[in-house]
Amino acid sequence: MAKKKAISLLSGGLDSTLATKLILDQGIEVIGLFLESPFGCKDDVSLIAEHLGIRLITVQKGMDYVDLVRNPKYGYGKNMNPCIDCRIYMFKIAQQVMDAEGADFIITGEVLGQRPMSQRKEAMAIIDRDSQSDERILRPLSAQFFPPTLMEREGWVDRDKLLNLTGRSRSEQLKWAERLKLKGYAAPAGGCLLTDANFSARLSEFFDRTSAPTMTEVRLLRLGRHFNLSNGAHLILGRNAEESEELWEISRKTVLEGEMTFFRADFSGPDAVLSGKTCSEISNEVSHLIAKYSNKSLVSQKEVEVVCGKSTFIININFPYTSNPLSKEELPVIQ
Ligand code: SF4
Repeated sequence: MAKKKAISLLSGGLDSTLATKLILDQGIEVIGLFLESPFGCKDDVSLIAEHLGIRLITVQKGMDYVDLVRNPKYGYGKNMNPCIDCRIYMFKIAQQVMDAEGADFIITGEVLGQRPMSQRKEAMAIIDRDSQSDERILRPLSAQFFPPTLMEREGWVDRDKLLNLTGRSRSEQLKWAERLKLKGYAAPAGGCLLTDANFSARLSEFFDRTSAPTMTEVRLLRLGRHFNLSNGAHLILGRNAEESEELWEISRKTVLEGEMTFFRADFSGPDAVLSGKTCSEISNEVSHLIAKYSNKSLVSQKEVEVVCGKSTFIININFPYTSNPLSKEELPVIQ
């Protein structure tokens, strides 16, 4: 029999790493597939692929994914996580990669009963049906709870070497990880920001306020402190140097095209990015908020460079900062 090839949906966590290893150990060629979310996830999958010795393909989830998160057919889990729709979306992409790579099937680290929304038998049946997976999905960690798949019936995969894990506990997976000497996977609590309550509140507010979001706005959501200004603009302040750097990296192209404005503090204060208004409409709330979140021990006049399309100019802030251009009510921080 010709050597079979599988596409493994790698998330960066233990389960998908273990599922991949179980299939690799059956002599099957595996290609890792990481679907990068515009909402940002915390895991680094390239290290895992390196440890497993497999090729990794990364595909960005696009605006169609953002639309799906805004209006999921099967609804949300506890927070803004549309897990059933998300899995259908991922399997559809995995099938495209499977076809392009001449692979035979798809593997995933799903465990029956681990997640209340998408990892129930009925939900998995919906996911398989709606993704039109044509029996090509294998769940090696819980395979023995399901009828034999095409891959097992055809003898491509030895069913006896697949597992019967179920439930939320990761203790069995950790024992297997030890036994198989797995390295590089993320701690079980990491992962998808859509399951995070604070991020979900921010995202919900964003969807309410923005009818046609851009990818740059979506990618900026996970960073900084967010404020809706009284003139309808939206300001994001970096919480530290690393975040300020990321704000610039993500928004640079949009800023240089004149669609956003960037504020670069040349002192120990936050960089910021403004959307929703042009740079001729910058309110004094911007300098107030930059001043408010700057180092309290500053004592002289400091410059903020404003980058706006192809031009730049300077605004000055005098420290210690005393004037408050806002009304008595401070602008609330959005989560
Ligand atoms: S936890 Fe996040 S990435 Fe995973 S299925 Fe749910 S929405 Fe998708």
